[in-house]
Amino acid sequence: MPAQTLDQLVSLSKRRGFVFPGSDIYGGLANTWDYGPLGVELKNRLKKLWWKTFIHKRQDMVGLDASILMNPRVWEASGHVSSFTDPLIDCKKCKQRFRGDKLLEEKLGVEAAAILQLEQVQPMLVAERIPCPNCGAVEWTEAKKFNLMFKTHQGVSEETASLVYLRPETAQGIFVNFKNITDTMRLRLPFGVGQIGKAFRNEITPGNFTFRTREFEQMEIEYFFDPERQKWEDVFAEWKKASWEFLTKTLGIKEENLRFRDHEKDELSHYSRGTTDVEYKFPWGWGELCAAAAYRTDYDLKQHEKFSGQELQYTDPDDPTRKITPHVMEPSFGSDRIALAIMLDAYTEEPLPNGESRTVMRFDPRLAPIDVAILPLSKKEHLIAKAQEIYKAILDKTNLVCDFDVTGSIGKRYRRQDEIGTPRCITVDFGTLGEDPEQGAPDTVTIRDRDSLQQERVTITQLIEKLRE
Ligand code: ATP
Repeated sequence: MPAQTLDQLVSLSKRRGFVFPGSDIYGGLANTWDYGPLGVELKNRLKKLWWKTFIHKRQDMVGLDASILMNPRVWEASGHVSSFTDPLIDCKKCKQRFRGDKLLEEKLGVEAAAILQLEQVQPMLVAERIPCPNCGAVEWTEAKKFNLMFKTHQGVSEETASLVYLRPETAQGIFVNFKNITDTMRLRLPFGVGQIGKAFRNEITPGNFTFRTREFEQMEIEYFFDPERQKWEDVFAEWKKASWEFLTKTLGIKEENLRFRDHEKDELSHYSRGTTDVEYKFPWGWGELCAAAAYRTDYDLKQHEKFSGQELQYTDPDDPTRKITPHVMEPSFGSDRIALAIMLDAYTEEPLPNGESRTVMRFDPRLAPIDVAILPLSKKEHLIAKAQEIYKAILDKTNLVCDFDVTGSIGKRYRRQDEIGTPRCITVDFGTLGEDPEQGAPDTVTIRDRDSLQQERVTITQLIEKLRE
């Protein structure tokens, strides 16, 4: 059974150490979440797979790690100061604030809601009789533009001169480093730059666990190409395919829970000529998982050239008299949203042959926070010592993340490892010690497979070899 509601996952996440409410002991801070010991492993693995797939395994890609704080002129050039806004509306009765377009989505559909002009939002809410989700009244104020960038001050004075923004996307860090990268890295078009980092948006209506938060992490690529040598439609198609393969093949997200959604012409961002999102079937409905490809033309490089006064062009190595401004394709992934989809996709409740039931996180083994758990059958000292020996051998001879668990009955420990998605459990028993031939031969252990529940008896040497594979 898939996760019917988000609540089941939120509860498992807290109980098992994937995701905790932020600032928990102070009563929390709305819509902030902390990744616990298992959540951080899952997210790190996701990011490593992304980096390996898109940076290390491709000759045409390099990485970057730009600052969160940037010169505020960057955000004037990018258009964020003037255009990075959502339509904010207030309920006149209870004074709660909402995103007008999001309230209209259910009635009108995502595409139709996204293309509404600011002045159409309030009349449409009234015409459609859309009530306030908090108090039920249909008494809406006019919609106002609300800029989503967080502002802060750099240094000791709080004057306008020291105003800085927390970056709302990682992309601009790549554009402002375009010259540094081309000057140092001997790259030929087409080439891409990828980076992973935090982004901040003062979202009007955050929620649905880690789906929409005000602090989140992005994994973004800016792929530069020569529009005279490559059709943008071809580059677009390549990145759609690469993004889809990453989600389905590398991360193992089920295809039936994913779909592409092309942005309508009127819905496109101010800089984009074509955008396709990948949506995931979340428990509350289809929602954006990532942008598979967004064609940004030469908008960003041209804008930064204009605002910085620096030339941001590419010289054709085959014809040094030919200088061009490359065009850009952008695939943009959110690591928190993808980690959420991975958890929802993995969440399964199923009956066991003995009539009981279990919850199991069927993570792809490359994403599971823990690779293998060592479970000594009892707390007897000499059994624990033997199990510790095996645990240390695994740590020395493999690169696996290994858990050692002695607390509770073996059944309870299997249940816990199922719930955290550990692909293999190793049971060390009195057979291993040579004290009980019925349990197994000396120096053998049992490997239990998370998904099939098959148990296999192997020697300790075979075990290490198997795990190495
Ligand atoms: P939405 O329409 O859901 O607000 P967006 O179109 O503004 O998203 P993009 O600007 O395309 O999002 O950002 C790229 C990716 O970054 C998104 O697909 C998502 O994975 C992630 N992302 C964006 N905003 C948030 C957020 N507030 N919380 C978590 N992840 C986010």
